Amino acid sequence: MNRPKNVATELDRWKDKYFALQESYDVDVNDAQEFRSILQRLLLRICLSAEGQSRVFDQELEVLRQQIKSKDLSLDALSGQLNEIDRALSEFDETKANNLKQFVLVFDQLVTQLLALKPPRSQRSALKKLSKSISPKNLTSGRFVPLLEEYAALQGTILETQDTEESSQVGLLDRLFGSDKPQQKESVAIENLDDALDIDARQDEEDEVIPGFSAISAHIAATMNNLLDQLTFPESSQRALDDLRTRIAQKLNWYELGPTLDDLSSVVLSAVGRGQREFGQFLIDIDERLQKIQNFVLETIQADDGLRNEEQMLDQQMRSQIATMATSLVETDDVETLKTSIRTQVENITAVLDRFSETGRQIEENKAKELEAMRLRFQALEEETRFFRKRLKEERSKALTDALTQLPNREAYDDRVSLEYERWKRYRKPATLVIADVDHFKAINDNYGHLSGDKVLQILAKEMQARIRQTDFVARYGGEEFVLILPETELDVAKGVIEKMRDTISRLPFHFRDEKLQVTISFGLVEFAEGKDTNVLFDCADQALYKAKEAGRNCFRVWQD
Ligand code: GH3
Ligand code: MG
Ligand code: MG
Repeated sequence: MNRPKNVATELDRWKDKYFALQESYDVDVNDAQEFRSILQRLLLRICLSAEGQSRVFDQELEVLRQQIKSKDLSLDALSGQLNEIDRALSEFDETKANNLKQFVLVFDQLVTQLLALKPPRSQRSALKKLSKSISPKNLTSGRFVPLLEEYAALQGTILETQDTEESSQVGLLDRLFGSDKPQQKESVAIENLDDALDIDARQDEEDEVIPGFSAISAHIAATMNNLLDQLTFPESSQRALDDLRTRIAQKLNWYELGPTLDDLSSVVLSAVGRGQREFGQFLIDIDERLQKIQNFVLETIQADDGLRNEEQMLDQQMRSQIATMATSLVETDDVETLKTSIRTQVENITAVLDRFSETGRQIEENKAKELEAMRLRFQALEEETRFFRKRLKEERSKALTDALTQLPNREAYDDRVSLEYERWKRYRKPATLVIADVDHFKAINDNYGHLSGDKVLQILAKEMQARIRQTDFVARYGGEEFVLILPETELDVAKGVIEKMRDTISRLPFHFRDEKLQVTISFGLVEFAEGKDTNVLFDCADQALYKAKEAGRNCFRVWQD
């Protein structure tokens, strides 16, 4: 196709322009790539050099690094990360400022601790100068090392001076309250940092050597409170005590220490004075107790002679204990030691008394045992006596009893007739004596045997015994003869009694095998009368009996004067 000339020219011009632009673009692209590469490397290096300041900042830098390294790094991603880094950076700045403040604070503490060691004036001034030269505003991290080096040098000098002074000097407060360990001093100083700085400011004005009192004021206050806690105060000191405690509770300073110590001493003295009075009362009480003990011992001893030896021993032991107590009183100043000593002595005395009462108790016990043994011996003796008395009675009874008929025998009759005769003489009441003799007894023996005769005698004895009153008396006089005493019985009454007896006996149904036999008795009676003793009475009765035999037997006869 044919184009006009001007069109061709225009086309060439545009073509040239295009190539020129193309060339320029290629150059731009190459430049941009190179620029970008340089920027990437630069950023990476900055990231690396900025690392280690803050954890959060480091994290954000790491993200940025990854983004930079990435091939498809986008502008949006970069600008987003820029915001994050801004935020992390502001946090980091804040932390840094805080760290600086903290450093200044810690540095001040270090300075204060050294000042509390009371260094010489020149060192103190250097320390304060160093302390004032730093503040968060003018402090950069580059100053840390020189500052610390300066401080370390000063600390070395001060500690060296302290070592030499400490061995030669002991301060008043050390002497009063004992020396503290270095760690304790440090802890007190740190706790009272603000106060310590305040006081240091005043020291500058007065230019006088005054120790860092606040460093030990807490210790002094605690010691004072401890002293007050251990004492008991009288009512009258209570107000002064309260005032004192309030003053101690408020922070003490060096200038208040003197008056406070004066008050403390007067309050403490009031407590000690009271303690002395209490101790006096304690001694009076002890004295009273000892007096009571002595009285008790005296009474006990007087009550029992058997304790004489024990008394002497007790006396000696108590004297010795009291002497020890007196020595303690003279030799010991300390009230508590004295109290303890006296308590021990009183306990010893009590122990001696216990032993004494134990000995007394043993004596009592032995006596009681002896008494019991004696009682048992006496009981045995009594039993023996009872046994022999019974035996005697039995023997006597045997001696007075007829073995065959069990009636009282002739000896018994003799006793009784004397008794009744005496009674008759005194009361003159009528009484009768009777002698009974079995009729033809010889024949019974002969006919039926001696044993049958014995049996007859036994039956007759029982019959006669049964026929008389309890106050009457019957005895076997011998052989087949019996004798009866009827006290307080008139002759006529006696006659009736005897007649009835005779009649009954004569009717007794004796028999030998199938043979019946009659047994009879003859009686001779005599009434007790003036001029007739027992022998005479017996004779009279016997004569009356004889008369009855004469009269044919189985009858009674009365003695007739
Ligand atoms: P009289 O009527 O006169 O009294 O005649 P009598 O036989 O009873 O008198 P005598 O004096 O001649 O006899 C008494 C007898 O009594 C003699 C003696 O053997 C007997 N005699 C004495 N004592 C006992 C005794 O204990 N037992 C027995 N069985 N006989 C005795
Ligand atoms: Mg006879
Ligand atoms: Mg006879």
